[in-house]
Amino acid sequence: TSHSNGNSDSFVKMPTIKFTKLFINGKFVDSISGKTFETIDPRTEEAITRVAEGDEEDIDLAVKAAREAFDNGPWPRLSGFDRGRIMMKFADLIDEHAEELAALDTIDAGKLFGEGKAGISQSANMLRYYAGAADKIHGEVLKMSREFHAYTLREPIGVVGHIIPWNFPTSMFLGKVSPALAAGCTMVVKPAEQTPLSALYYAHLSKLAGIPDGVLNVVTGFGPTAGAAISSHMDIDAVSFTGSTEVGREVIQAAAKSNLKTLSLELGGKSPLIIFDDADLDKAAELALLGILYNKGEVCVASSRVFVQEGIYDEFVKKLLEKKKSWTVGDPFDPKVRQGPQIDKKQFDKILSYIEHGKREGATLLTGGKPLGHNKGYYIEPTFFTDVKEDMLIAKDEIFGPVMSLMKFKTIDEAIKKANNTTYGLAAGVMTKDLNVANTVSRSIRAGIIWINCYFAFDRDLPFGGYKMSGFGRDFGLDALYKYLQVKSVVTPIFNSPW
Ligand code: ADP
Repeated sequence: TSHSNGNSDSFVKMPTIKFTKLFINGKFVDSISGKTFETIDPRTEEAITRVAEGDEEDIDLAVKAAREAFDNGPWPRLSGFDRGRIMMKFADLIDEHAEELAALDTIDAGKLFGEGKAGISQSANMLRYYAGAADKIHGEVLKMSREFHAYTLREPIGVVGHIIPWNFPTSMFLGKVSPALAAGCTMVVKPAEQTPLSALYYAHLSKLAGIPDGVLNVVTGFGPTAGAAISSHMDIDAVSFTGSTEVGREVIQAAAKSNLKTLSLELGGKSPLIIFDDADLDKAAELALLGILYNKGEVCVASSRVFVQEGIYDEFVKKLLEKKKSWTVGDPFDPKVRQGPQIDKKQFDKILSYIEHGKREGATLLTGGKPLGHNKGYYIEPTFFTDVKEDMLIAKDEIFGPVMSLMKFKTIDEAIKKANNTTYGLAAGVMTKDLNVANTVSRSIRAGIIWINCYFAFDRDLPFGGYKMSGFGRDFGLDALYKYLQVKSVVTPIFNSPW
C-alpha cells in the first residue's frame, strides 16, 4: 500500500456550505431548542460547520407538515405522470450540481471525490427510474367466485420516515426518497449525524424542482433523539431504516410500542466471497480486494469473509498481496487514491480494536493492521488476516472497515456450510467457471443478493435487502415502490347479489 501524503493541501477542495438548518414545510429553520452540532471532516478531524440539531419536537413539526401535505396537499393527488415530471426536474438539478454535491460527501464522509461525481448522477437516475414508474401504479380487476365486481387500488401508504446511514449519504437518500415520492407519499428524512450536508442540499433542490412544501422534510440530528422520534411517532405510517442490526431492533420495538407502523430494515452483513479452484485467479484477487476495501470497507455488503479452495489458496494470497501494492490510501480528493479515511473516531477506534482482537485470538496478520500515515485523519491500512477460524470475533462481527478474514475450504458442501454460518444474510459472491457449482451455491446461500464472477454489481432496478438478521424489505427496483403503497380491495355487486 502506498500512502499519498505528499501535498495533501492541494486536494483540499472545500465547497461552500450553504445549508445547515432543518428543512421543514419548504423552509430552512433553526431547531426549536436552538441547538446545533458539529459535523467533522474525517481527513482532518476538524469541524466543517455546525448543523441544526433536531429533536423530538422538530420531528413532530416535520411530521405535521408531511401529514398536512398528504391529507390535503397536491402531491398524492397529482397524476403519477405529473409527479414523475417534477422528479425528472429534481434529477436534472442534481446533475447540474453533481460536483458540489460530491465534494460535500467527500468532506463529510471521506468518500472518493472522483467516484462521487459519477455516483451522484447514478443516484439521480434513481429519481428518473421511479419517475417512469409513477404513472404505472395500478391495481387489478378480480373475478370473485360470486356475482361481484372487484378491483384493487394501490394507494400511497402515507407519511414515511427514512432513517439514513452515513456510508452512502447520497445513494441512500435518493434510493429511499425516490420510490416514496413516486408512490405519492410525503416524508421526513433523518440523515446520519456524521453526514448531514448533502441531504440538506437535496432538500433545497427538491424545492427548486417544484416538489410542494411539506412533501420532503429533512431533520438533521442524532439517532437516540431525532431518529427514535421517527420510529416511535404515532403519525408516521412507515419507516425505512438502513443501519446497524442493533439499532434495527430498537426501531422494531419502537414501532411495536407506538402505532405498528410498517417497517423495512436494511441491516448489517458479514458477506462471504467463495473462490473455487477453477476461478480466474486474477479477477478473484481483484474482486476480493475491492470487496473489502471499496469505500474503506464501510459497506454493508463488503466481502469481509473470503473462502478460498485449498488448491489455489497460496497462489491466491500471493496475488492478493501483489495487487494490494498499487492500492493507495490518502486524501479522497486525490485522483490516485482508492481509499479515504474512516468516517469518524468511534469507527476508527472500533476497527483497530477488532484488529487487536483478531491478533489475540490467534489469527495471522498477513498485512496491515495499523493507522496509516498522517497523525491527522482516520486512515487505516488495508488489513488481511489468514488462519481465521469461524468462531473468532473477526469472522463473526460486522467490522465495517478494511479488514478481510481469509479462510480455506476443501469441498463445495464445506464452503456452503461455512458461508451460511453467520447470523447475517445480505450478499455473497462466488467465483468459478463451473455453472453447476455457481448454481448450487447461489441457491444454497441464504442472502439477498448473489454475485457470480462479479461483486458490487448494483442497479436501480435490482431489489436489494437482507435475509436473516440483515433485515427485511427491499430497497431499489419495483419492490421498493410497492413498500410505499398499500392495497385496498373494492367490491360492488353486479346484479342482485345476495349481500
Ligand atoms: P452506525 O452504528 O453504523 O452509525 P446506526 O445504526 O447507529 O449505524 O445509524 C444509522 C442511522 O440510524 C443514523 O441515522 C442514526 O442516527 C440512526 N439511529 C441511531 N440510533 C437510533 C435509534 N435509537 N432510533 C432511531 N434511529 C437511530
